[in-house]
Amino acid sequence: MNRDSKYDILFEPVQIGPVKTKNRFYQVPHCNTLGHARPRAEAANRRVKAEGGWGVVCSQEVEIHPSADLTPYVEGRLWDDQDVPQHRMMTDAVHEFGALAGIELAYNASHAANHYSRIAPMGPSATVVHGNNPIYARAMTRKDIRDLRRWHVDAAKRSRQAGYDIVYVYVGHDMSVFQHFLKTQHNHRVDEYGGSLENRLRLTREVLTDMREAIGGDCAIALRFAVDELRGKDGLQAECEGRDVIGMLAEIPDLWDVNISDWGNDSATARFEPVEGYQEPYTSFVKSLTTKPVVGVGRFTSADAMVSQIKRGVLDLIGAARPSIADPYLPQKIDTGRIDEIRECIGCNICVAQDNLAAPIRCTQNPTQGEEWKRDWHPEKIEPAVSNDPVLVVGAGPAGLEAAMQLANRGYQVTLAEANEKLGGRVTLESQLPGLASYGRVRDYRETQILKHPNIEVYRGNRLSADDIIALEIPHVLIATGSTWHRDGVGRQHAFSVPGIDSALVLTPDDILSGIKARGRVLIYDDDHYYMGGAIAEQCRNEGLEVTLVTPDSKVSSWTENTLEQEKIQSRLLSLGINILPLHELLHVDQEMAKLVNIYDGNVQQTIAFDSLILVTSRSPNDTLYQSLLENEATFKTLKAVGDCHAPGTVAAAVFEGHLAARGLESIVDEYQALFRREIILLD
Ligand code: ADP
Ligand code: SF4
Repeated sequence: MNRDSKYDILFEPVQIGPVKTKNRFYQVPHCNTLGHARPRAEAANRRVKAEGGWGVVCSQEVEIHPSADLTPYVEGRLWDDQDVPQHRMMTDAVHEFGALAGIELAYNASHAANHYSRIAPMGPSATVVHGNNPIYARAMTRKDIRDLRRWHVDAAKRSRQAGYDIVYVYVGHDMSVFQHFLKTQHNHRVDEYGGSLENRLRLTREVLTDMREAIGGDCAIALRFAVDELRGKDGLQAECEGRDVIGMLAEIPDLWDVNISDWGNDSATARFEPVEGYQEPYTSFVKSLTTKPVVGVGRFTSADAMVSQIKRGVLDLIGAARPSIADPYLPQKIDTGRIDEIRECIGCNICVAQDNLAAPIRCTQNPTQGEEWKRDWHPEKIEPAVSNDPVLVVGAGPAGLEAAMQLANRGYQVTLAEANEKLGGRVTLESQLPGLASYGRVRDYRETQILKHPNIEVYRGNRLSADDIIALEIPHVLIATGSTWHRDGVGRQHAFSVPGIDSALVLTPDDILSGIKARGRVLIYDDDHYYMGGAIAEQCRNEGLEVTLVTPDSKVSSWTENTLEQEKIQSRLLSLGINILPLHELLHVDQEMAKLVNIYDGNVQQTIAFDSLILVTSRSPNDTLYQSLLENEATFKTLKAVGDCHAPGTVAAAVFEGHLAARGLESIVDEYQALFRREIILLD
């Protein structure tokens, strides 16, 4: 198919200093925890984006010196010449498809605890190191500043040697040394690098100039700058000075890569920034102050929104991290008129969570993300079927939908049976909760592909029994029947039912999602710690109910620290007037009274009266059907439980299992053996 001519503008080349992009699709630097520990996986991960049509593909932040080492996080590393070959592997892969390769050089000053190098960190002024590390950074001397400039020049030269086309000076996310010099919060110096804005900006200006002298003839110099910190007028300088900084440095870099800070604002989830292009109100002024090209982000997945950004003069290049993770082929799909095949990012930040967990990237929408080298998975290609056998998939949640779609892509004839009229399972239900509408995209993408696929027959409103399935005589059966929330309080704190729980009328997330309304005084007990407890609290409060959320943890929805949402969730619940009681567990329940106890001090107890008790504790697999079919296992060539009915987990885990089951059908790849390739360190 041909692309719609209204999208032609997205495929225009853009000159960036001495280099030219082939189009306006720009994968901005983003972490993937492959980096220096997994260089083959890193190269393959970036390669597939170049193959998918991105005009620029950047690295993640790349440490330039051991005195700012990001351990335990695994980013890029360019400390000396030994690191050059692994970067060359990445740039070669990107260049293969005519894309430019960019590198974000990073020196994270007091944001780097140096857990590996053990060198005392340093920053503009003596200060505590980021996080709750019992580590302090020392104030940089003038010699340190000269050294830092030299390290940047050395890293820039190595970047050129490694084949990069665009080299970054990183002034963002409240992490980099340059932003720390810029912000009065971090910079208390009284010399020529402190005080006035001109002084605080001096180091950035010097390094830009140094890098231009060193590599400017061959490589474009990009400046990544957080124009706003979204902190309000609390006396901090950066949010007021973003405009001034851009005015002062306007023509010095070859490219402005602008965003907002900190990371939680830049990579805001759809729950808190539901609208595509959400950074526009903060960054749209930039182009009025510079003639250099400007790239910015905003979770862009719609070609029309991208065109609008260009035509209205907001951006020159459409920046994307998460949309390129969810769909590395996004540009090519626009180019070839396959808009309805775009796998749109849902803004859940599971990808970000992996970085915060120092674990390799994964994505809810794209189960092949991070698996390109490790499992040799490609987001758009799959092994052909090895037989003409038909396959039955039972359950059309994320796991069943992904399995059915990929099996059909392989060429199998697939029957997909779903008990409900609507497809989507948990994402259809959960997308009704406040802020989670975009989770419906997990269903939408797959349902669209399935409905137009000639190889799949979908039976809605069909709850299959074991006898039904046996009677169908389909040789390969995947069971994807999901999970159910516990009604007895079993979870992390309670291995057995909460005493007295049978005396109360208990609601679970399944009840709420099926439309049953809580009433009066609502008590939510959250021993799950991901989004469900907080989202249900918000929904009940929006219905005008009085809500108390009790959790044994010290914070609400504590796991969402990994998705950069925790502070926002707790602030939102408090602003809604929800009563939060942390560090308490449910001791027992007596009809409409709950006895709670402090998890550290059994003597601290209190009783709360409720009209509705909602238990958000844990889920158990809906595996009864699977277990009864196991009694007739010999009847089937394949009988497998996938997704939440195998082991409850995230939506990302269910999609992954559905994908794995589809790839693995009739394959010699056993899921427990020869699992995947590992990057082995070769010993001399
Ligand atoms: P997962 O996240 O693993 O995909 P979900 O709970 O989202 O799990 O989806 C499971 C789906 O399976 C639900 O849509 C549910 O209606 C469906 N289902 C459960 N039991 C049956 C059954 N016996 N026959 C057909 N569909 C079923
Ligand atoms: Fe988007 Fe979620 Fe995938 Fe990240 S994990 S790219 S936020 S869908």
